[in-house]
Amino acid sequence: MPPASHSRIYLDHAATTPLHPQVRDAMLPFLGDEGFGNPSSLHYWGRQARKALEQARETVAACLGAKPVEMIFTSGATEADNLAVFGVVQALSHKGKHIVTTRIEHAAVANACKALEAQGWDITWLPVDAEGFVLLDDVKAAIRPETALVSIIHGNNEIGTIQPVEAIGAYLREQGVLFHMDAVQTVGKLPIDLSALPVDYLSLSAHKLYGPKGVGALYIRDGAPTPQPMMLGGGQEGDLRSGTENLAGIVGLAKALELATADMAEESVRLRALQDWLIAVVLEAVPGAVLNGPRNVRQRVPGNVHFSFPPGEGEALVLHLDLKGIAVSSGSACHSAVIEPSRIVKALGKPDEVAKATVRFSLGRSTTQANLQRVVEVLPDIVKRFQKAATK
Ligand SMILES: *Cc1c(COP(=O)(O)O)cnc(C)c1O
Repeated sequence: MPPASHSRIYLDHAATTPLHPQVRDAMLPFLGDEGFGNPSSLHYWGRQARKALEQARETVAACLGAKPVEMIFTSGATEADNLAVFGVVQALSHKGKHIVTTRIEHAAVANACKALEAQGWDITWLPVDAEGFVLLDDVKAAIRPETALVSIIHGNNEIGTIQPVEAIGAYLREQGVLFHMDAVQTVGKLPIDLSALPVDYLSLSAHKLYGPKGVGALYIRDGAPTPQPMMLGGGQEGDLRSGTENLAGIVGLAKALELATADMAEESVRLRALQDWLIAVVLEAVPGAVLNGPRNVRQRVPGNVHFSFPPGEGEALVLHLDLKGIAVSSGSACHSAVIEPSRIVKALGKPDEVAKATVRFSLGRSTTQANLQRVVEVLPDIVKRFQKAATK
């Protein structure tokens, strides 16, 4: 890290996280002369690489209560989500052309479903309640004999809501309907035991848990229909994802998940205390602040805090905080000078003014109480400026 970064505060861990030093150390041999082999080669270098690849698969599987054969490495969660959605429904198209998903999916699932919708698939976009929860009764009402797949995000990447996936999964299992879960924001933060959780497919990504970018995995339950592959070639990853494996990345993913799993209990308690403090203090210190997602931090992804500060505009608020050395993000995006409201906050039933004023603070390993105190020092004045401008 350059010295200048010491005065900067990074509160955007839901976008990406820095590489854990121990993850980098674990990866280095595979970027050097010893570990560069191709896991498909028969010679010494190939065998060494194959061993590391399968060890990483065992580690990732063990951290999630899965079997090694159930883990397919991909280039990240976007690919895992696409493989789950496109691959499963293509493999299941004889059953019917109906998919159930939610209005608050990550773009990797939402846009895959939209593409299928354009091709004539019938998509049910489930609503959520005011805190962002999908209701089991809505899931029940949406299921039809021709439903090929249900895809629901576990912990929302914007508002942090954790879905009741145990109950939803149990119902779907009973009905014989396949269930995919995007767990990018919860893997490594919440205990996930796939030997007990009724989920058929699960996506995860390394760079959201202090691992490298460009690597992730799709869990495919043993016995669940095999998705149709999107990458055709040499037949790597059980024919499901051709292409020479990103071995350094995969080793990094395994190390990152192992480290996250080791101190998950402690770190989630620490993050939730910080999160709870920030929510309470912002609600008090910033007039007009609107909390998005559950007030109970036990129902939020550890570290996620999401507010709207109307009449501020998300991107402008982000830039003002950046001027103060605080890195956050906004789900609302500026397209051709018009602020687009966050579709996630709109799904909560909130007006455009609130959905345009979004700021996500995502806390992580480096976050301290002093960091958050600094946020609370500068935030009220920034918001006040927008409020003054609006009343002129
Ligand atoms: C970041 C993210 C993704 C995409 O993961 P990549 O590895 O960056 O492709 C998918 N879903 C959620 C919920 C995410 O937060």
